[in-house]
Amino acid sequence: MVSKIHLDGIGMTSMRTRNRLITRLREQGIVNEDVLDVITATPRHLFVDEALAHRAYEDDALPIGHNQTLSRPYIVAKMTELLLEKGTPKRVLEVGTGSGYQMSILAQLVDELYSVERIKPLLDKARQRARMLKLNNVRFQHADGGFGWPQQGPYDAILSAAAPRQVPEELLEQLAIGGRLIMPIGDARQQQLIVIDKTQEGLHEQVIEAVNFVPLLAGRIG
Ligand code: SAH
Repeated sequence: MVSKIHLDGIGMTSMRTRNRLITRLREQGIVNEDVLDVITATPRHLFVDEALAHRAYEDDALPIGHNQTLSRPYIVAKMTELLLEKGTPKRVLEVGTGSGYQMSILAQLVDELYSVERIKPLLDKARQRARMLKLNNVRFQHADGGFGWPQQGPYDAILSAAAPRQVPEELLEQLAIGGRLIMPIGDARQQQLIVIDKTQEGLHEQVIEAVNFVPLLAGRIG
């Protein structure tokens, strides 16, 4: 079951700041109203250190420790929109939980979410945030997500917030027929956001736009 965050009790100032972000996302071409509603309702300031909270509704990437970053709202919105483009996927795998912000957006739009992170302290914090926000359709795993989470697959959609140089075979294998993979591919100098649709006939790839993500790294930490 989809979980929802409610907007009750959010102050006027905060609502204005959030609406400004939504206007900016619309200007950049985000059109899916469900995605925009969920971004409005989700308290992004709870996913960063208190010292950065005042910047949480700007369209910027923010540091989350351990050399990692929370993606800018535009890219979270864009990837989520691509994930929903062909209907609502039921089972979704997210590689790179990080702060849990993208996780909390996805949890409000899909039935079941499986989220994998290699850095334990980040995963633990994201898990707490999911609990606090009562997002109870998410399961987490501390693992190298380059190998996916085979026991829970196949997935209707797979989304990665970390860039490998090439698409991992394991992720393609865990994608259901009719499913879609959305991920950045490339190195530190050049990356593209790609979408791969898996059909009866085979794989169909589209390049969406140039992006800038942290690398997909091997192994687990912590
Ligand atoms: N979606 C996250 C973005 C975090 S940045 C958010 O909303 O905050 C990407 C994350 O991918 C980092 O936390 C990084 O540790 C993680 N990551 C990198 N390689 C990984 C791997 N092989 N398996 C799982 N997570 C990985």
